[in-house]
Amino acid sequence: MAEKFILVHLIPPDQRPEDADNELQELVALVTTYGGATVVKIMQKRDHPDNETYIGKGKAEELKISAKEEKAQVVVLNGIVKQGQIFSLQRYLTDGKEDVAVWDRMDLILNIFAKHASTAEAKLQIELARMRHMGPRMYGLGGNELSRQGGGIGTRGKGETNIEIMKRHWREQIKQTQDRLKKLTTEREKQIARRKELGLKTVSIVGYTNAGKTSLFNLLSKKRKLVENALFATLDSTVGELYVPSLNSTVIISDTIGFIQNLPPQLIDAFKSTLMESVHAHILLHIIDISDEKREEKIEIVEQILADLKVENKKRIFVFNKIDAVENLEEITYQLHQKYSDYNPIFISVHNKQNIESLIEKISRYI
Ligand code: GDP
Ligand code: MG
Repeated sequence: MAEKFILVHLIPPDQRPEDADNELQELVALVTTYGGATVVKIMQKRDHPDNETYIGKGKAEELKISAKEEKAQVVVLNGIVKQGQIFSLQRYLTDGKEDVAVWDRMDLILNIFAKHASTAEAKLQIELARMRHMGPRMYGLGGNELSRQGGGIGTRGKGETNIEIMKRHWREQIKQTQDRLKKLTTEREKQIARRKELGLKTVSIVGYTNAGKTSLFNLLSKKRKLVENALFATLDSTVGELYVPSLNSTVIISDTIGFIQNLPPQLIDAFKSTLMESVHAHILLHIIDISDEKREEKIEIVEQILADLKVENKKRIFVFNKIDAVENLEEITYQLHQKYSDYNPIFISVHNKQNIESLIEKISRYI
C-alpha cells in the first residue's frame, strides 16, 4: 500500500494564492512520482518560518491530530528546512514513538532519486548528497528507516548526548563515500574511453522523471548479453546494447536518472557524473510524456539542465512517448511537430510498441 503523505506549504506574504496552489500541486505530483498518496494538504500564511518547528506550535498541534486521524506516515514541508527544525517537529509529532517521518522538499527529491537509481554510482551520489544535506544530526535521529535512511549508528539518546562522536563519524562516512565514488567514477571513465577507442556509437536516454526512459531502455536494449561481455562486466544495468539492422551493427544505449523541476543546485553537482554518460553519447534521445499537460515546461527544464551540463549542442531526437494515452493525438502531434521541428520529433508508445522501428531507423540515420 502507498505510504500516506501530509503536505505543508507556508505561504510567504508576497505569494499570490494561485502560485501557492501551483506549488502545492507540484509537490503532490512529486509525491505521486515517489509512489506515495497525498491525504492532506495544509497551507498557512506566515511572514517567516517558525525558528523551532518551522510551522509553529499551533499548526504543529493541528498537524499532529491530522496525522493520527489519517494514519499518515510522512509529513513533507515544502521548502529547504533546517535539520534542527525538522528534528523538533518530528519529535513534537511523534512523542518519541517515531511513527511519523518529517521530510523537507530536498528529502523528498532525494528519496525519489534513491528509488529510481539503479547504478552503484548513482546510489552513492544520492547517499552523499543526503549526508551533506542532513549533517551530523542524521546519526542522532534513531532508527526510523523511513524518515532518515542512511543513518544508522546507535540510538537517539546516544546521538543526542554525544555530538562530537556524531560529527566525527559523519565526516568519516562522507570521506569514505567520496573515496568509493571516486573509484567507480574512474572505472566508468575508463569504460567510456575504451568504448570510444573501439569506435562504438552511443545513445543516451534523457528526460523528465516518469517520461518512460527506463521502459524504452528495457524495450530497446538487450542487457543479458552484455553481462557476459567483459567490456561491460563492471558496468551497471543502465547500459545496454541495441542492434540496428540498417547499420548491421550494435550501438550502446544508456538510461539515465530523471530530471525534476527546481532541482536543488547541490543535487545537480551530485548527479553530474551519472549524467556524464550523456555527455559522451553521440546522440541524445530526449523522452517526453506526450500525455502530460506540462510537457512543454518539462522539455524546457530538461533542456536547461542539459545546457548547464554543457551538452546542449549534442544531436538529439525528441521522442514523444505514451501516444496511446492521448485523445486528440493528431492535433497535438501537429503542434509539436511545428514547434520542435529542429529536434527531429518522433511519436511513439512503448506500451503498444508503436513506431519503435521508425525510432531505431531514425537513430541509425543520425549516427
Ligand atoms: P522514467 O522515470 O522516465 O524511467 O519512466 P518509466 O520508464 O519508469 O515509466 C514511468 C511510467 O510510465 C510507468 O508507469 C510506465 O509504465 C509508464 N509508461 C511508459 N511507457 C508508456 C507508454 O508508452 N504508454 C503509457 N500509457 N504509459 C507508459
Ligand atoms: Mg527510470
